[in-house]
Amino acid sequence: MKIYLATGNKNKKKEMCELLPEHTILIPSDEGIEFDPDETGTTFYENSLIKARTLYDIVHCPVIADDSGICVDALGGAPGIFSSRYAGPDFMHGKPDGTKISQEEQNIFLIQQTNEAIKNGNLPKGAYLHGERSCHYTCAMVMYCGTDRLFVAQETFEGALIDDISKQAGNGGFGYDPIVFLPEFNKTVAELTADEKNAISHRGKAVRALKRIIDQM
Ligand code: IMP
Repeated sequence: MKIYLATGNKNKKKEMCELLPEHTILIPSDEGIEFDPDETGTTFYENSLIKARTLYDIVHCPVIADDSGICVDALGGAPGIFSSRYAGPDFMHGKPDGTKISQEEQNIFLIQQTNEAIKNGNLPKGAYLHGERSCHYTCAMVMYCGTDRLFVAQETFEGALIDDISKQAGNGGFGYDPIVFLPEFNKTVAELTADEKNAISHRGKAVRALKRIIDQM
């Protein structure tokens, strides 16, 4: 089945192609479609629905949208839905002019900001799975098949933020993966193979929940 993926992120396309090998996954840029909807939602789910609906209105074919991000417990779940725009403590929701900093700079800022929060001891209450440095990825995935026909899965992937950028490791994955440590594997997410990551990731779990529905279509 031909499924459009509502993203400009080629890394997400790669992971979705690995996760849904029996389907043809297209992103808007594959067909020269301009796609940059305003993500005005306040949750991963709302933003995912905005992306799915916007692309569906253009292509009129089944669309999958993924809105995802990293949530750091010590930062009360930030940067969360702002993960791609996060530009350090002064620009938690992104820079006013819309420019982005490099992923390396985002990683350095996030570690520094988390260290600072832990040092100050002003941590939000909660059950921290992997101690003070706990974090998780979240992925809200919407399969949009028409105005009144849609399916949603939201999943998480737990880890712990490393405490020093010099400990970043791995070349796999993308985004924050080199700084997210998985105690059970004694590796960062970026050190996992693509199959290992897909088996346990937020995106892998969400797509497998939707796959049961997709396969019946
Ligand atoms: P979105 O494209 O608006 O959903 O933003 C997603 C952002 O969250 C990405 O640009 C990354 O910064 C981060 N992110 C989401 N999923 C992952 C992942 O699997 N690994 C690393 N970073 C991720």
